[in-house]
Amino acid sequence: MSTVLSARDIRKSYGKGTARFDALDGVSLEVQAGESLAIVGKSGSGKSTLMHLLALLDTPDGGALFVKGTDADKLSVKQVTRLRNEDFGFVFQQFFLTPNASVLDNVVLPLKIAGVAARERKARGMAALAQLEMADKAKNKASNLSGGQKQRVVIARALVNNPKVIFADEPTGNLDTATGRLVEDILFSLNTEHGITLVIVTHDTELAARCDRQMFIRDGREARSLETSGASA
Ligand code: ADP
Repeated sequence: MSTVLSARDIRKSYGKGTARFDALDGVSLEVQAGESLAIVGKSGSGKSTLMHLLALLDTPDGGALFVKGTDADKLSVKQVTRLRNEDFGFVFQQFFLTPNASVLDNVVLPLKIAGVAARERKARGMAALAQLEMADKAKNKASNLSGGQKQRVVIARALVNNPKVIFADEPTGNLDTATGRLVEDILFSLNTEHGITLVIVTHDTELAARCDRQMFIRDGREARSLETSGASA
């Protein structure tokens, strides 16, 4: 197995002076290609902060991050943007869809950013939607969808660039249990059938248990087990 991402003693604080809060207080981990990893902990423990740093959406105040062996600090802004756009896909609880744009336009946004021509964007966007059985909704406004449908569109958007890693932050947080399980099934099939590495942030212990490996976070540090992490099902 090869390591796709590794973090060494990373730290992140928010605020300054007496208002300073250490959201991440020295965490190390390695993500292997093809695995599914759950980052588990209760609300406010630092999970999303860790995921944002791993996904190069933010920079750590201390420690080092390596992407396929390269120190992220040594990458140019352009290289980071490209990596994020081409190698990573994102699935967030809040969907982050443009409500008045069509489903297809939402899905092809990463391709537009990457400068892919309109015709190819459409073909790839439709293929991603078809994979999630949402092709018939391509022309719908994103706002006119159910929660489960919205999350499928988000997954199609995450997939459209053929990413190596999908980062999912509470991907089922806004869905009812049955719909949430379907969305989970889709994510895990991408992992097992297409070898896409999954990094899932969750406080849902059932979802975490479906992953190959769990990392528990408490108060910005790694905790040894679920009990010491304080997370609950
Ligand atoms: P989790 O994902 O486990 O709920 P987060 O990583 O979102 O935790 O947050 C960890 C801590 O950092 C929380 O106490 C949160 O309030 C704080 N925090 C997160 N983002 C910011 C921010 N942008 N500014 C200030 N505090 C933040």
